[in-house]
Amino acid sequence: MAGPAWGPPRLDGFILTERLGSGTYATVYKAYAKKDTREVVAIKCVAKKSLNKASVENLLTEIEILKGIRHPHIVHLKDFQWDSDNIYLIMEFCAGGDLSRFIHTRRILPEKVARVFMQQLASALQFLHERNISHLDLKPQNILLSSLEKPHLKLADFGFAQHMSPWDEKHVLRGSPLYMAPEMVCQRQYDARVDLWSVGVILYEALFGQPPFASRSFSELEEKIRSNRVIEDFFAHPWVDLEHMPSRESLARATALVVQAVKKDQDGEAVAALSLYCQALDFFVPALHYEVDAQRKEAIKAKVRQYVSRAEELKAIVSSSNQALLKQGTSARDLLREMARDKPRLLAALEVASAATAKEEEAGGEQDALDLYQHGLGELLVLLAAEPPGRRRELLHTEVQNLMARAEYLKEQVKMRESHWAAETLDKEGLSESVRSSCTLQ
Ligand code: ADP
Ligand code: MG
Repeated sequence: MAGPAWGPPRLDGFILTERLGSGTYATVYKAYAKKDTREVVAIKCVAKKSLNKASVENLLTEIEILKGIRHPHIVHLKDFQWDSDNIYLIMEFCAGGDLSRFIHTRRILPEKVARVFMQQLASALQFLHERNISHLDLKPQNILLSSLEKPHLKLADFGFAQHMSPWDEKHVLRGSPLYMAPEMVCQRQYDARVDLWSVGVILYEALFGQPPFASRSFSELEEKIRSNRVIEDFFAHPWVDLEHMPSRESLARATALVVQAVKKDQDGEAVAALSLYCQALDFFVPALHYEVDAQRKEAIKAKVRQYVSRAEELKAIVSSSNQALLKQGTSARDLLREMARDKPRLLAALEVASAATAKEEEAGGEQDALDLYQHGLGELLVLLAAEPPGRRRELLHTEVQNLMARAEYLKEQVKMRESHWAAETLDKEGLSESVRSSCTLQ
């Protein structure tokens, strides 16, 4: 029997507890079996009144099919029940939540993780397609994770899309069109292959943090799918790195950057010069790959060696002046801290700055340090604005300037770190180690 509107429904043999999620047609609760094992399950409640008569029958047939299926990457349907109001699907409980939440709390997934997930999804789909079953509503919200510690994908929420017309105007804007194949969205005529389209969209979302045709309305989505516009993120992605593809332009771009580097170097701007040399080397590497003439190749290599050795000298200069600055900054901060004993907010902001400095000294801690500096700076700027004239204000002013300089410096560092080398091919050329080590300061 259904319970009151504000709580979970009642179901014989189970205690329904927290709501795990809800989708278009159903609400899913965590539940415990009353007898023996007190097994934890997920119970999906579908209100009968949301289904027309034909859909109810289809749903029941679907349940029968699903009950016969066992696969490690498909949510196991243990049993089902119904009463006058609802149909209940009693399923294995997936403690890791759904893939949508998993991706978005991490912003994007590393390629390695995405690949393992794709393998699991592919094995589930292959299994289904061999049995002539299409899912038709593949999307991250319908893919669950067994646990957060050791996440395995479990394909869920199935069969419904087939029976509940996903193109029904009422539901068309509920998210799933983003994952639908164009023939489904635009022609409403399709076959089992639409599942593969959705897999592509899911992979894209895992890697880039949002689906390729993210839209605010259905008409915008349809427009995007129909248009021939490229999906820019793909072409701009650092892994594809189209910009540094070996080409006719590589050498010219490298040379232009070197000219700027030399200029900065002459002006005594070591940090900027080093950064430019590194950017130039990023183009020299593909230039070397592009060049086929052995003699010209040798000439480029000789130049590159020269720039690498200058970059190494600059690196030493930058690193030692950086150490000096860091020390200076720390002692100025200690002084300010002495004068801030009565100002907890200032003390806290200085703590953040110190934490940033500590992070900066850790290998690979630049990005974290940068975030902390920016956070600390935000606070200190507010405090500076309210600080009356005097010695403390002067010190605070210096501290703000120091932190800004640190943040600028780190931004350069992060940029240089991101500037990456075609290391594996360069190894053959015997340049890779020196090139890479000149461009990281750790
Ligand atoms: P709908 O048909 O309404 O979309 P779903 O089966 O997709 O219903 O379930 C809705 C949400 O409930 C899912 O996105 C997920 O967050 C949660 N959920 C569903 N099944 C389970 C389960 N077995 N274990 C844990 N959470 C679940
Ligand atoms: Mg769903």
